[in-house]
Amino acid sequence: MNIKNIRNFSIIAHIDHGKSTIADRLIEYTGTLSKREMEAQVLDQMDLERERGITIKAQAVRLEYVGKDGETYQINLIDTPGHVDFTYEVSRSLAACEGALLVVDAAQGIEAQTLANVYLALEHNLEIIPVVNKIDLPSADPDKVKHEIEEVIGLDASEAVLASAKAGIGIKEILDAIVEKVPAPTGDENAPLSALIFDSHFDAYKGVIAYVRVMNGKIKPGMKLRMMVTNKEFEVTEVGIFRPALANIGELSTGEVGFVVGSIKNVKDVRVGDTITDALKPAKEPLPGYRGINPMVYCGLYPMDSSDYDNLKDALEKLQLNDASLLFEPETSIALGFGFRCGFLGLLHMDVIQERLEREYNLGLITTAPSVIYQVYKTNGEILKIDNPANLPPATEIDHIDEPYVKATVIVPNDFVGAVMELSQEKRGEFKDMKYLDVDRVMITYHIPLSEIIYDYFDRLKSSTRGYASLDYELTDYQTSILVKLDILLNGEPVDALSVIVHKDKAAYRGRQLAEKLKGIIPKQMFEIPIQAAIGNKVIARETVKAMRKDVLAKCYGGDISRKRKLLEKQKEGKKRMKSVGSVEIPQEAFMAILKID
Ligand code: GDP
Ligand code: MG
Repeated sequence: MNIKNIRNFSIIAHIDHGKSTIADRLIEYTGTLSKREMEAQVLDQMDLERERGITIKAQAVRLEYVGKDGETYQINLIDTPGHVDFTYEVSRSLAACEGALLVVDAAQGIEAQTLANVYLALEHNLEIIPVVNKIDLPSADPDKVKHEIEEVIGLDASEAVLASAKAGIGIKEILDAIVEKVPAPTGDENAPLSALIFDSHFDAYKGVIAYVRVMNGKIKPGMKLRMMVTNKEFEVTEVGIFRPALANIGELSTGEVGFVVGSIKNVKDVRVGDTITDALKPAKEPLPGYRGINPMVYCGLYPMDSSDYDNLKDALEKLQLNDASLLFEPETSIALGFGFRCGFLGLLHMDVIQERLEREYNLGLITTAPSVIYQVYKTNGEILKIDNPANLPPATEIDHIDEPYVKATVIVPNDFVGAVMELSQEKRGEFKDMKYLDVDRVMITYHIPLSEIIYDYFDRLKSSTRGYASLDYELTDYQTSILVKLDILLNGEPVDALSVIVHKDKAAYRGRQLAEKLKGIIPKQMFEIPIQAAIGNKVIARETVKAMRKDVLAKCYGGDISRKRKLLEKQKEGKKRMKSVGSVEIPQEAFMAILKID
């Protein structure tokens, strides 16, 4: 295909504004899949994505479309996730494109992640085509949304496509706009190969599959390639495209999007953002924009059954292959035994990985409360990065601690400004700015500790604004805070996996609340279990789990054996998510209790 007839674009939007549905309609309209093959949101292939209705991994598909000029165009669509945790995925996908469809819900208007994604697209110099979606909704107000796009983003919205992915309105107009407005790729077919890896995937049959956008040169089977960041070499066995299933073709040429399979031995050798080049005729330098990934949130993952340790390691390695942003390393806990410290982009990411481990790999897991990375300056001049509260040195050895801060952007109807401010203040936020987007919606920015965001900021933001607020945040800096470690002792023994780092002013309150919460969570036993919250040697709260009065089975009057078995099975079920620490059984919920304290 002539490079002039290639168009590469992404769809960007706030979550739920209709990216995936628009992608479905484009695939359908261009006849890439027959009606029978179409399933709603075909690009959201992962079970979890379907169930939660969100896109986790970017996906790519090649469409063919005959434009108004009668010429056939190759249109490569890359679907991106819209959630705040997956900015890195979005950014890599955008680097593979020349244009972006900016989808805005006609009833909702611009939301926090609409803006975040637009800024990313502008950073990559993409041609942005505004699409106002869901115009079928009774509450749709396309003119107001167009006005917002012009006022807030500064884009010309006069030619915005008015669409309803649901009703199939505006789909042809979107395709025509892509053909007419998105620039064709540039690049030199005869130059040394450089191809951007924007995603990768592990396939049980083919092994590692790298998703690439060819910037210069060509890729053909038999070529010897090198990845420029990891410096690993491999021989190409297959190249192909996404329709959206993998389809082999003879070569991938300049401007095209597709996949490469080869003798890639180690899964970790394929890094998203890396550049593939010809090992015999390498490009002078890698493509710009590669950055390593910095997880923002860490937690411990432990197998409930310690014999599952190797299985957990295996599963994490496999997941990492499909998710360059997942980090993990072995860790041991006195309470929980052998497990892994895992780094995530954010809480949703953490949730998704946990669920995939349990669902796809059949693992029973105990997870500890998430933590940010603290920079601890010791009195002896040493600087430590602490991502696990249990590893915080004793207070006497600490000079001061810095914690990560973010710029949090909240967009909300103006009725809720007070609620947002109250919550943000309580979360140690510092007010930065407030701007009206239109007569009844405002954008508020706060400088706020990341640890407070990961506690329960988003949930509470949603509930105090009746679901109307949208949130985006980005790491800005580290600042010194007065922080202490809050320890929990059960039966007089400290349980390292329950320790948390909290602000000194909130320590006493959180300690009391946590002890009280745990009292309701830890099951009764034949003996009394004291629960203590302590800062250093000082106990600040104490609760007791009373001893069990009588054998639960006594209720079953001996006779009914099936009822007895049912009860035992039920107990066993309940035990599934528990870990024995000394003589005390701690359920999973206990490790997350800190997140549920206001
Ligand atoms: P994404 O998160 O941006 O990928 O959004 P989805 O494509 O998953 O859509 C979110 C929800 O909006 C789904 O329930 C869709 O069925 C619905 N939706 C998408 N487009 C339209 C539309 O044009 N009209 C209406 N009424 N609903 C839509
Ligand atoms: Mg989606």
